[in-house]
Amino acid sequence: MTDKHSHDDSSLNPFPIKKLDDLISPFLVPPGQRISLAKDYDPAYKAHYLKKSEAESELQKGIEALAKYQDMLYAQDTYALLIIFQAMDAAGKDSTIKHVMSGINPQGCQVHSFKVPAGEELDHDYLWRCSRALPERGEIGIFNRSNYEEILVTRVHPEILEQRQIPPNLIDKHIWQRRYEEINNFEKYLTSNGTIILKFFLNVSKEEQRKRFLERIELPEKNWKFSVNDARERTFWPDYMVAYEEMFNHTSTEWAPWYVIPADHKWFTRLVVAGIIYAQLKALNLNYPKVSEAKHQELLQAKEMLESQK
Ligand code: ATP
Ligand code: MG
Repeated sequence: MTDKHSHDDSSLNPFPIKKLDDLISPFLVPPGQRISLAKDYDPAYKAHYLKKSEAESELQKGIEALAKYQDMLYAQDTYALLIIFQAMDAAGKDSTIKHVMSGINPQGCQVHSFKVPAGEELDHDYLWRCSRALPERGEIGIFNRSNYEEILVTRVHPEILEQRQIPPNLIDKHIWQRRYEEINNFEKYLTSNGTIILKFFLNVSKEEQRKRFLERIELPEKNWKFSVNDARERTFWPDYMVAYEEMFNHTSTEWAPWYVIPADHKWFTRLVVAGIIYAQLKALNLNYPKVSEAKHQELLQAKEMLESQK
């Protein structure tokens, strides 16, 4: 009884990588600095790991370590964690979410996939549908794509904006700058209210994407994942890279940083994403709620009662 009364850190598994900060820090987009996506971030990077098997047991233990922290996040019911994934097609968003969250209690976690907006979504401002899907305190919310599409796909295909019901005088050359500021302010507001935000860009190379598309065509069980439009969209690759780079340079902030994660080796992507989430949760100094002395006495009474009952 008494040892449960106050929380003891020894029940937490550590992440199985000693210098976790050294592994994850190269992927942070430093707020306030301009980065070059092509020069500063290599999609094929895999640190000192030579092959998948070397990282696998670390990932498994890392997932277990994450699960413990999620349990505390949920019990403490104070912070919400929002994790945003953005990427080109076939970069591995779905499988990263599936693997990294595999140890997580579904009760405290929700995944939202944002597709082309439709119906009611189009009748609102562009942050509306995302704000409705935000995680509650104690929860982890995962956005598979997000409001960032509004400065990515819409920037690459500006005709999308014209098809929306936005007042035409609001579509001018400053719209992207305004949207960066709107998103930064929105995220600032959320973090000032207890939502922690992590943003991951899974950085796959154009060649690796081509291989994965071909695999989706060749393997019948992967056919459903491919649409001809994916191959068409690929021809806009350079435009997307510009849009992403601009996005990093304007929206990686102290309060909601972007991480550019190498994504040509899926196992490495998963290890790094798990490591960053773990480091973030650890930094929150989470605790199981401590019960008051009065409540503690009540528990002792209930214990006595149960022990004397048949
Ligand atoms: P996969 O990587 O498996 O293809 P996905 O996330 O691309 O998964 P899809 O159903 O293929 O899922 O695509 C969702 C599509 O919705 C993307 O092409 C994306 O650009 C588009 N989309 C999402 N949000 C918006 C938005 N706000 N405006 C316009 N298009 C959007
Ligand atoms: Mg797609």
